[in-house]
Formats: sequence, C-alpha cells, structure tokens
Amino acid sequence: MKIDPIELTRDLIRFETINPPGNETPCAEYIGGILERVGFRIAYYPLDGDGSRASLIARIGGGGARKPLCLSGHTDVVPLGAAPWSVSPFAGDIADGRIYGRGSTDMKGGVAAIVAAAVDLAPHLEGTPGLVLVITASEENGCHGANFLVGVDGALGEAGALVVAEPTANRPLNGHKGVLRVEGRSTGVTAHGSMPEQGDNAVYKAARVVSKLERLRLDEGRTLKGGLPTLNVGWFRGGMNVNSIPDEATFGLDIRLVPGLTDTDVLARLGEIGGTDAAFTKFTSYPPVYTEPSDPWIAEVHAVMADITGERHAPAIASYFTDAEALVRGYGHPPAIILGPGEPDMAHQTDEFCLVRRIEEARAGFTEIARRWCGV
Ligand SMILES: [Zn+2]
Repeated sequence: MKIDPIELTRDLIRFETINPPGNETPCAEYIGGILERVGFRIAYYPLDGDGSRASLIARIGGGGARKPLCLSGHTDVVPLGAAPWSVSPFAGDIADGRIYGRGSTDMKGGVAAIVAAAVDLAPHLEGTPGLVLVITASEENGCHGANFLVGVDGALGEAGALVVAEPTANRPLNGHKGVLRVEGRSTGVTAHGSMPEQGDNAVYKAARVVSKLERLRLDEGRTLKGGLPTLNVGWFRGGMNVNSIPDEATFGLDIRLVPGLTDTDVLARLGEIGGTDAAFTKFTSYPPVYTEPSDPWIAEVHAVMADITGERHAPAIASYFTDAEALVRGYGHPPAIILGPGEPDMAHQTDEFCLVRRIEEARAGFTEIARRWCGV
C-alpha cells in the first residue's frame, strides 16, 4: 500500500477539528484505519467523557534492545480568526503548488507526511526497533492531549528518539523554547481622586516597572543556546474608578526561555527590577526542550534533511512551544527534533497554506530517518 501525502493532507483538512471544541476523534480514527491496514497496533485515548477528543498511539515492530523511534503530530487546529478567508478553509484546495486550509501548515501536512512514511516502511519493520506514532488531540490550547498521555500508565511506552512534525519548512530544529508566565502586582493606598497626596498610586508603580521591562535584556551576560529569550507584557490592569487613587495594578508577562536561562534566573532578575514597586508570582513554567547538535542522531537528521532539501542550517530551536516538552518528559528525555513541512510564518494565519513540495520532502525525510533508525 502507498499513501499520497498530498491527498492525505487534503483529507485531514476536511475534518473540522477547530479547538475548541476539537472533535478530533473522527480524524484520529481515519488515520488509525490507514495504519491498522498495514499492520500497526492501534490504541485510542479519549480526553473526556463523550469520547470526541481522542489521541491515537500506533506501534509497529519493537521489543528488541533498541527503543522505537517516535514520530508525533497533533490533529486539532486553531479557530479561523475574524478576517474572512479568500479560500475555503476546509476544502484542501491546491493552487500554485500550495495546499490551502486551516491546519495545512499547522500541522496536518506534517501528520500526513508521517503517516505516508510509516506506511512506506511498515512491511519491513517486524523484528526491528520499530516506530511509535503519537497523534495527539488538544495541542493548541496547552498540550492537553500529550500531557494526558504522559499521565496514562503505559500509554506512551518507550522511545529512543522523537520527531515532532510542527511547521519548520523542513529545517531540523534541535528543540523549542520554554515558557514562563508571571503576574506582576503593585499595591498602594486608595484615596479621593481630588487628593492624590493622600494616596499612593499603584498604577504609577506598575508603569515604572513595565517601562523597565521594555528595555530588559534577559540574555545579557549569559551564554545561551538555540536562540534569544523574549519577554512580552500581555496585559496591564489597574484602578477601578476614575475619581479614586488606584491601590492595585497587575500585569502579565509571557517570557520564552532558552537553554541556559531558567525560570529561577528570570524571577531573580524580575525581583531586582520590581524592587519595592512590584512583586512577581509565576503561574506557568515549562522548560525549553533541547538536544546538543553533537548528539549523533541529531547530526544524522540534519544530514538526511540537507540531502533532501539542499539546505544546511545552523543549530537553532523553535520559538513556539510544542508537544515535545510533554513527550520528552514521558519518554525520559531522549534526543528530540522539531521538523515538519509547514511554513512557520503561516501557522494560525488567514488563508493558511503549506507548500506541496515541502510535504513530499518531509515524507522522504521521515522515511529515511525511520529507515536508518530501524536498520532496514
Ligand atoms: Zn501545531
């Protein structure tokens, strides 16, 4: 059996899996049906009571000394946005070498390339380390599907290396940034708006701190790997009524961590900046995912993709977060690559598309990476 990854991408786009509500189960079952026909062992893991949000784990081969290779992607997509689309978001139309549709780039093109590669190799994988395909639901609102699988005893099994096919335009990335989310809070003393000297305005304190944060360089004096950290002030709230001195102001920070910069480092720096004007509390923290370029398998993946695409790239990591963080935790921190056919700039955009030729390249890349892993 052969799978045309272009046709499969179009088929997958036609499943409406906007998250929320997701409704990923029909899409997962479609993929599971294909894999089952070529000998994969299939298990579904629904997230919630009504069964509409299933992740899929499909295995073939395995059982020897070497652990399987894990290939992973998600089936949910983000909402369409407020702007009208000039193409149908769920038709999978092709024009000028592009497949259009919500999820074409992020990341049904990547999932289709994984499935096509897995089907190509399936007849040769008994008695080899084998493959495990982890196709998750509910990635787009916080990697719920992958984290759920990590928590189900025995669901993930083992893997010796991980490929997550998020959009990288087929450039292998040696991991992705971590996330730290923090609330800043300034307090003061309320008083009548006509008598500011009687109060202590919390908005002024918060504003002083926020303007320092705009100039903050988190990379200063550090040796970092894979890219630069970023900081964004995503909200700012203060005061209740215009004729009072505000006694509270809060602001939310989204910080993207890179290897060499931990949440503890950042919180210490924020503490210095806040001084007596603001205090900080973290509410989300996930570390970056990173494998050194010197890892032999990482080097091999780079070489395979350079042969296929004709492009060589310096080591870097993805700026966005992925299921890789949950999966490397679940698998005991094997080497991990983010590599997929989608255009990174097209993720979550109006008129999202994926280049047809990138999906073909990704299929060839995944097939070769898996072939070498399994020694066939
Ligand atoms: Zn994605």
